[in-house]
Amino acid sequence: MIYQEIQEKIKKIAKSKNAVILAHNYQRPEIQDIADFVGDSLHLSRCASKTDADIILFCGVSFMAETAKILAPSKKVLLPRYEAGCPMAMMITKSELQKLKDNHPDAVVVAYVNTTAEIKAMADVCCTSSNALKVVKGIKERKIIFVPDKNLADYCKRRTPEKEFIIYDGYCYVHNQITYKQLKNTKDKYPAARVLAHPECPFEALQLADEILSTEKMVEYVEKSEYNEFIIATEPGIIHRLKKNAPSKKFITVENCQICKTMKMTTIEDVYNAIVEEKYEITLEPDIIKKACSSLDKMLKYI
Ligand code: SF4
Repeated sequence: MIYQEIQEKIKKIAKSKNAVILAHNYQRPEIQDIADFVGDSLHLSRCASKTDADIILFCGVSFMAETAKILAPSKKVLLPRYEAGCPMAMMITKSELQKLKDNHPDAVVVAYVNTTAEIKAMADVCCTSSNALKVVKGIKERKIIFVPDKNLADYCKRRTPEKEFIIYDGYCYVHNQITYKQLKNTKDKYPAARVLAHPECPFEALQLADEILSTEKMVEYVEKSEYNEFIIATEPGIIHRLKKNAPSKKFITVENCQICKTMKMTTIEDVYNAIVEEKYEITLEPDIIKKACSSLDKMLKYI
């Protein structure tokens, strides 16, 4: 209730400006509560590509707002907190990817959507954690350069032995620190709980999962499941949405699980300032938009 006044103001102004508010599953609860759409990268990318709003107010991190701009270049795309970036997306540079491409000219480049617009523009196809395996399976060439998440790449590699992977050494610090031991301790405490783990977690931790799912698929799974207790091995922000969708079920975070600092940087006041002052607008070079859009368009076929 403490946010009610500012939330109502934001919704009113957004409506008057024909703005749509998109919020990632890891955003603060009070922001998720005012969003028109809450979801993972794939879901929000699709919302951005289909919206008829004039303004897209993207509550998430910068690569997500860039993705919205690439898919809806005629719209004004706003990121409420300028410095909210994804550390994993910043791990790979254009020159590092160019070196990999030069060393493996016969490989297809798959870029996880958690990359900058420049990296997407250099890739052949993008993927999200929801559709990474489908994207990889859909590639007819044998050799794949997968950037930047080594854990998601490893998850795909183990399921497609017919492919040869060149894996970049990037990772999400939140998921990469979910260890086998932490997850095992949590499981021992709650033996009846189903373990739902995100594929950005390391292979050892994934061994303890009952299901390996993107955040969007976790929401779907919990809704349909006959189980009542779940250990959620991903950034804890998703638990707000899970609780809203299934209030009678119990959700447990992994022992000592970190939160994503940049996802939590955006406050409700930032969202208010963003919609009032129409900041911070995402701008990209037309050539980057064109090339990155081609990689994203190919990805959107693999839903
Ligand atoms: S949770 Fe991980 S992948 Fe997502 S924005 Fe934070 S650092 Fe990046």
